[in-house]
Amino acid sequence: MGSFEGKRGLIFGVANKNSIAWGIAQALAEEGATLGFSYAGEALQKRVAPLAESVGSSFVEECDVTDDGAIDELFMKVEERMGKIDFLVHSIAFAPREDLGGRFVETSRDGFRIALDISCYSLVALARRALPLMSGGGSIMAMTYYGAEKVTPNYNVMGVAKAALEATIRYLAWDLGKDQIRVNAISAGPIKTLASAGVSGFRKSLGYVGAVAPMGNVTQGDVGNAARFLLGDWAEKITGEVVYVDGGYNIMGAPDLDAAEA
Ligand code: NAD
Repeated sequence: MGSFEGKRGLIFGVANKNSIAWGIAQALAEEGATLGFSYAGEALQKRVAPLAESVGSSFVEECDVTDDGAIDELFMKVEERMGKIDFLVHSIAFAPREDLGGRFVETSRDGFRIALDISCYSLVALARRALPLMSGGGSIMAMTYYGAEKVTPNYNVMGVAKAALEATIRYLAWDLGKDQIRVNAISAGPIKTLASAGVSGFRKSLGYVGAVAPMGNVTQGDVGNAARFLLGDWAEKITGEVVYVDGGYNIMGAPDLDAAEA
């Protein structure tokens, strides 16, 4: 019997089979979880619906997280069709492409607002709607990146958004602890996906991290495995944390120059 047998939850952020959210969904489905999926925009329906079906989910609903009305509508459907939920996965980020490269000082007001709204505030908006559905306690998880803590050239405004997201994790963990709801993040190493392809020079940085990290690059499956733990009962009293799934990259103070140049 899987460790998520009898548990239900929502997955936000599957765009295609390369999405980190899909790696997480597959791991949780293997553990017996009942999953509901939400995706952004009509165009993704044809990709997400078959994936959801392959893990036995019939709950696949569109929701643009910048639209409060759409979020309310989505959670009404969740309550009607899924009832109570035990977990929520936030695997959503966006910044205008022109703000993911070049000089950070050129970041536009609008680009900054959009990045912070979609990549950070949305977690608060989703957690607030999930709260009444998690009356028996629950677990919320988001995805972050090392660029929140240390400068990663070209990651630019997304690094700022991830820093805000990590602080949001801590404040939510404090606030929702009294409701027995845990809130954590996984900080993943670089993985080739739709979102990461938008960051200038991503391919090079994937190669560099692969060479420098003690255990090389990571996969969506590695993140999914960590999510089995972090979202599940074994992590019962872990909250407000950022857990690295990065092959150990974050412990390095300097690269092994021979490996980095190879
Ligand atoms: P992805 O493109 O597969 O997923 C990003 C998701 O965000 C997509 O499903 C997209 O539809 C969704 N999204 C964007 N705007 C939205 C909106 N307005 N409303 C609802 N959903 C919206 O890419 P991914 O790499 O799997 O990204 C998932 C998460 O993992 C992101 O938070 C990303 O920052 C984080 N992350 C990625 C990496 C990496 O290298 N790929 C590393 C660390 C963290």
